[in-house]
Amino acid sequence: MTVAADHRTTPSPISAGIRGRCPRCGEGHMFDGFLKLAPRCEVCDLDFGFADPADGPAFFVICFACVPAVILALWIEVAFQAPYWVHLVTTLPFLLLTCIPPLRPLKGWLVASQYHFRAEEGRLEDGDLERRSRSS
Ligand SMILES: [Zn+2]
Repeated sequence: MTVAADHRTTPSPISAGIRGRCPRCGEGHMFDGFLKLAPRCEVCDLDFGFADPADGPAFFVICFACVPAVILALWIEVAFQAPYWVHLVTTLPFLLLTCIPPLRPLKGWLVASQYHFRAEEGRLEDGDLERRSRSS
């Protein structure tokens, strides 16, 4: 980590995530491709090994982007009894435009939130196991 990165304020998870920047320094790049995370920040050397947004970005896209696309398709079908080629030039582009572009900012926001709130998988500590064995 550089000394300059120590004195910076950490960016908000929303700001860092949407811009795809490092959640600690706000300057390094989080992504090493469209959705692939970089192994570490090139500015402050933060290891992105902690990051595991799993299906989170896909969940939000399904909930908030796919539903409007399906409603559009149903409306076109019910209102106009449109042939399939109309769906190919209206519904399909709308579906792709509402589902693919939000994936990266959503993944960035979830990774930055994991760092900001120190979210990680729950695990038992040694003391927990000893207390459990004594109580049983
Ligand atoms: Zn960084």
